[in-house]
Amino acid sequence: MPLPVVAIIGRPNVGKSTLVNRLTGMMDAIVHDEPGVTRDRTYREAFWRDRDFLVVDTGGLVFDDDTDFLPLIREQAMLALAESSAAILVVDGQSGPNGADETIATWLRQQSVPVLVAVNKCESPDQGLIQAAEFWRLGLGEPFAVSGIHGNGTGDLLDELLNHLPSTEIVEESDEIRVAIVGRPNVGKSSLLNAFVGENRAIVSPISGTTRDTIDMIVERGEQRYRLIDTAGIRKKKQVEYGPEFFGINRSFKAIRRSDVVLLVIDALDGVTEQDQKLAGRIAEDGRACIVVVNKWDAVEKDSYTIYDYDEQLKDRLHFTDWAETIYVSAHTGQRVDKILDLVDTAAEQHKRRVSTSVINEVLEEALSWHTPPTTRQGRQGRIYYGTQVTSQPPTIALFVNDPKLFNDNFRRYTERQFRQHLGFSGTPLKLLWRGKKMRELDRTSPNRATKNKNESVVLRMSARY
Ligand code: GDP
Ligand code: GDP
Repeated sequence: MPLPVVAIIGRPNVGKSTLVNRLTGMMDAIVHDEPGVTRDRTYREAFWRDRDFLVVDTGGLVFDDDTDFLPLIREQAMLALAESSAAILVVDGQSGPNGADETIATWLRQQSVPVLVAVNKCESPDQGLIQAAEFWRLGLGEPFAVSGIHGNGTGDLLDELLNHLPSTEIVEESDEIRVAIVGRPNVGKSSLLNAFVGENRAIVSPISGTTRDTIDMIVERGEQRYRLIDTAGIRKKKQVEYGPEFFGINRSFKAIRRSDVVLLVIDALDGVTEQDQKLAGRIAEDGRACIVVVNKWDAVEKDSYTIYDYDEQLKDRLHFTDWAETIYVSAHTGQRVDKILDLVDTAAEQHKRRVSTSVINEVLEEALSWHTPPTTRQGRQGRIYYGTQVTSQPPTIALFVNDPKLFNDNFRRYTERQFRQHLGFSGTPLKLLWRGKKMRELDRTSPNRATKNKNESVVLRMSARY
C-alpha cells in the first residue's frame, strides 16, 4: 500500500521548507530565503511514532498580487493536494494572518482534505499561543503554535496529523484479524502453527505478505478470517545457515508491526526470558493487542499452585504487557489451542473499541472523586479538564490538563487502571496522552471557568469541539 501523503501548503516565506526539513529530519537541506522561489514538487519521507508518510512541499502557492488568486494556484499544489490524505497550512505567526492566508484557507475549506494550521515562527511558548490564536479566524480549527527552526510544538502537530492519516496497515477486507506469532526459537511457534492449521481445516491458501519471502496464511473459523503473519518466517529457522541462537528479532518486529494481535509465545519450561521481555516491550510500544501463550504446558510438573505461581511470574516479568490475557497451552497435545482464537477475537475487538466522550468523562469524574491529582510543594495542583478518545487500534485517550508535568507516574497509572476497571480494554494497550492546555484557551470556550474553585479538579464537558 502506498504511503499516505501530507501536503504542506502556504504562501511563500512562511517557513514551509524549514518545517518540512524539521518533519523529515534533514536539517542540512537547503532553505531558500528569497520570497516566491519556485521549487518542484518533491516528496520527502517522514515518520512520527510508528507511522511512515510522505511530505510534499508544494513549494509555495505562488501568485501575483495583481491577479486573482485562484487561477494562479500552482498546478503542482493542486495536484499535491489531490493525492494527499491531509494538508498542513503553514502561516507566519510573527506577521499574523493576512489576506493571502485567508484566500488559501477559504479554498482549503472547500476541499475534502483535512487541514491542520501550523502557525510557524512561534519560538516563544507564551507569545506563541497568542500569535497562534489569531489564526482561529481562518476557520480551520485549532491553530498549532510551532517553530520550524527550533522544533517546538511540532510534536503536538504531528500527533494530531496521525489522526488524519489512513492506516497503512489495514488491508481491504478489514474484518480479517492479523495475527503475529512471535517468540524465541524453540518455544513452539511452528508446532503451534501446525496445531492451528489442524484445528481450523478451512485454510484458504498461503498468500504472499508484503515481500516475496513473507508468506501469510489465512485461516477461517466460522465467519471470521485470520491472517497469520509471516508464517514463512516462523518456519525459516529450520534452515541451518542460522545457528540455533539466531533469534530473528527484526523479523519478529516486522511481524508485530503488521499485526492487530500478537501471540507472544513463552516456553513454560524456561519461563520469561530477557528476549521475551524485549518482544513484550515492542508489542506495547507499537500499540498492538497481545495474548501471552505459555506453551509446552504438558511438560510442566504441576501442583495446585503452579498456575498461580506462573501468573505471578508473568505479571512481574512481563509488565509491559500486563494488560494481556494469558493462556496455558500445549501444541503437542492440543490442550486449549482452540481457545486461543477466542482470546484473539476479544483482544481484536477491544483494540478497535471506541468509547464516547461522555463515558470517558464520567470515568474521569469518578476517578478524580476518589483520588485527587498530586499537588507540588509550591501548592500547584494538577487538574484534568476533560478527556476524549482520539483514536483506536489501540484505544488512545487524550486528557487535557493544566500541566502534564504535574501528573506523576503513580497518578497516570491510577488513571489508566480506572479506565480499565470501568471500561475493560482487556488484551489491548490503552494509550493516555497527557496534553497541556492553557487556561486562556479554555476560558475562551468556557467563560465561567475562571470562577471555579482553584483547588477543585474540574472535568469540563467540551465534547462539542471534538
Ligand atoms: P517557505 O518559502 O515557506 O518555504 O519558507 P522558508 O522555509 O524558506 O523560510 C522563510 C524564512 O523564514 C527564512 O528566512 C527562514 O529562516 C525563516 N523561518 C522559517 N522558519 C522559521 C521559524 O520557525 N522561526 C523563525 N523566526 N523564522 C523562520
Ligand atoms: P519454534 O522454533 O518456536 O518454531 O519451535 P518448534 O515448534 O520448532 O518447537 C521446538 C521444540 O519444542 C520441538 O522439539 C517441539 O517438539 C517442542 N515443542 C513444541 N511445542 C511443544 C509442546 O506443546 N509441548 C512439548 N512438550 N514440546 C513442544
